[in-house]
Amino acid sequence: MLRPVLQYPDPLLSKPCEPVGAIDDGIRALVADMLDTLSTVGGVGIAAPQIGVLKRVVIIDVSLEKEQEDAPQDFRVFINPVVTVLDPRPHEENEGCLSVPDLRAKVKRPRLVALDGIDLDGNPVHIEGGGYYGACMQHETDHLDGKLFLDHLSFLKRSLYDKKMRKGRK
Ligand SMILES: [Zn+2]
Repeated sequence: MLRPVLQYPDPLLSKPCEPVGAIDDGIRALVADMLDTLSTVGGVGIAAPQIGVLKRVVIIDVSLEKEQEDAPQDFRVFINPVVTVLDPRPHEENEGCLSVPDLRAKVKRPRLVALDGIDLDGNPVHIEGGGYYGACMQHETDHLDGKLFLDHLSFLKRSLYDKKMRKGRK
């Protein structure tokens, strides 16, 4: 089912999420909704809090690994994902977010990371990479800690965006 994507400054987007215990029907329904929403609105990843559920679940388009724009999207589910930094040297990518409309900005993050989690069958899933792919893994997992890519921007850039959003809401 398509669910509305929460938009900044919705307070749910800045709350930490709970780990998933048992993979039950509730979690399976959550993942189905996340997939429906992501494929409808378009994007390379989504985190559960973006549809208002504070559980540690993300979906990532693993076709990004190929770094080919025409590669068909291949969404993979990560339950209780953990990012491990493999190369801490900073690397900058232009990021955007379904929950942060009308903004793309350069964000510096560790260059190479791994992402570990489990899938809906409880099997371990592991991916690693850098560039836009690595940034995506870190961006989506950040959501589970209540962090948006805005939190990585300078105070000035962020205040400008805040101002614009508040104006638009009036
Ligand atoms: Zn995001």
